[in-house]
Amino acid sequence: MPTATVALLPEVARFLDTDHGLIIGADRPPASDGGLIDVFDPANGRLLTRVASATASDVDAAVAAARAALPVWNALSPADRADLLWRLGDEIAKRAEEFGQLETLDNGKPTSESGVLDVPLCASLFKYYAGWATKIEGESMTPSGGGAFHVFTRREPVGVVGAIIPWNFPLLMAGYKLGPALAAGNTMVLKPAEQTPLSALRLVELMLEIGFPPGVVNVVTGDGPGAGAPLAAHLDVDKITFTGENATGQKILEASKGNMKRLSLELGGKSPSLIFADADIDKAIAGTFGAIYFNQGQCCIAGARVFVERTAYDRFVDGLGAKVAGIRLGNGLDPETTMGPVVSAEQQARVDGLIASGVAAGARAVVGGGTVSAPELADGYFVQPTLFTDVAADMEIMRREIFGPVGMVGVFDTEDEAIELANATPFGLASGLWTSDVTRTHRVVPQIHAGVVWVNTYGMFDVAIPYGGFKASGYGKELGREALDPYLQTKTVWIDLGG
Ligand code: ADP
Repeated sequence: MPTATVALLPEVARFLDTDHGLIIGADRPPASDGGLIDVFDPANGRLLTRVASATASDVDAAVAAARAALPVWNALSPADRADLLWRLGDEIAKRAEEFGQLETLDNGKPTSESGVLDVPLCASLFKYYAGWATKIEGESMTPSGGGAFHVFTRREPVGVVGAIIPWNFPLLMAGYKLGPALAAGNTMVLKPAEQTPLSALRLVELMLEIGFPPGVVNVVTGDGPGAGAPLAAHLDVDKITFTGENATGQKILEASKGNMKRLSLELGGKSPSLIFADADIDKAIAGTFGAIYFNQGQCCIAGARVFVERTAYDRFVDGLGAKVAGIRLGNGLDPETTMGPVVSAEQQARVDGLIASGVAAGARAVVGGGTVSAPELADGYFVQPTLFTDVAADMEIMRREIFGPVGMVGVFDTEDEAIELANATPFGLASGLWTSDVTRTHRVVPQIHAGVVWVNTYGMFDVAIPYGGFKASGYGKELGREALDPYLQTKTVWIDLGG
C-alpha cells in the first residue's frame, strides 16, 4: 500500500535543512578533517541530512570540554541541577511530536510506537532523575573496633562519562545514560550511533537552549572506529556507559583498560518466552507478539525464542501467526503503519540473510520467510515479518541475536524442560513467563537466568524500575535508583577526634 504520511513539522524540516556540526561546549564545529556522515531515511533510502564525522582529535576536544564543565556543573546546587533536569523533561514532553518525527525519520519506527514509549519515557526519566539530584547522600558510620573517629562517606560523581549508544532507541538510550549521570554530578561526551544521530543532537541543543552549562553534555557524532574507539580508550574519560552488541562491548572492555575506566555494558540478548497451557493464551499471544515484533524486532529484550507447552502449541502458533500476517509495513510517519523499515540497508541484508539461513536449515516459516517484494516498499529497508517453527537448537537463528522481526516457536512437555530451554543461551537479559499458576510462577522465576522476568506481560519499562542483564548480557543496571550507583563513587573519610 502506498503510504500517506503526515506532513513534517516546520521545526523538523528546518532541522533537516542544514548539515550538523558536533556539539563541543557551546560550539558546533565541523569534524577536524571535514568528514561528514550521510543520514538516510530508512523508509525510502533518501538522504535526510549530514552530520559531522568526529575524529580522535574532536573526541579530545569534547572530553576537554566535559572535564572543564565538571566543576561548573558541581558548583550548581543540587536543587538547581534538579530544576534543569525537570525542565528538560517538560520540554521534551512539549516537543513530543517533533522528537517523534525525528526519531521516525532517522530510525524508521512508527510514530505510534515512539509516541507511547520512546518520547514519554525519555521525558519522564529526566523528571525522575531530577528528583534524585537532591537525594545523593553518604552515611555516617561507627568503626566496629570503636575509637575516637568520625567516619563518613561521600557519594561523589565518577567524573567525565563517555556514553556510546545504539540506533534502536536513539533518544531513549541517550536519556537512559544522561538522566542518572547528570543527577549524580557527572559530565558527558555522548556518541550516538552513526545511523541515528539526529534526536541526540536535537536533545543536547535543547539542553543548551534551556540553560545547561556548555560542556556538561557534548556530542561527537561519528562511527565506531572513528569516534567510539578513541572515546573508549581516552585516558581522561573516567567511565564508559555502552549499549550495543557483545562484540563491540568486548572491544570497549579492551580499550578501556588503559586507565581502568568504570564500565556499564548493556549488551545483547536472546530472550525466551515460556507459555504454559494454564496461561490466558489469547493474552499470551498478544503479549508475545509485542515481545517479538515491537520496534521491528530491533530490541535487545526481544522475547523471540518462544516455547509453548504442547497442549497449547497449535492454538498459540495459529493465533500468533494470524497476528504476524496482519502486520502492515510502511513508512513510520503513516498512522496506519504497524511496522516500519529496519534501520539501514546493512541491517536489512543481515536480517534477510538470517531468515534465509533459517529456511535453508529446514525451519518452517509459518509466516514470511522471504524478502519484501512490494514495489512501493522497494526503496526502503523493509524486512518480511517472519514466524518460524521447527527450529533446531543448533540453527543460526536460534543461537544469534537477530535484531529483526523474526520469532521462533518451539514446544515443551514439562516445566523442567521449559526452564532448560529458557536458559540454553549465553545471554541473560530478559524473559517472559505466561502462566496462571502462582506457585509455578514462584518456582520458575528464581530458576531463570535473566535480569528481568515479565510474568503475564512483556516489555514493561518504568523509570523507577531497574533494568539490566545477567551473564553475557552485561552489567550495570539502568533506570531506577540502582542506575545511579555506576555513576557514583564512594569516598570514605576518617577524622581522628584525638582520642
Ligand atoms: P550495532 O551492530 O547494532 O550497530 P554496535 O555495538 O556496533 O551495534 O553499535 C553500538 C554503538 O557502538 C554505536 O554507537 C557504534 O558506533 C559504537 N561502536 C561500534 N564499534 C565501536 C568500537 N570499536 N568502539 C567504540 N564504539 C563502537
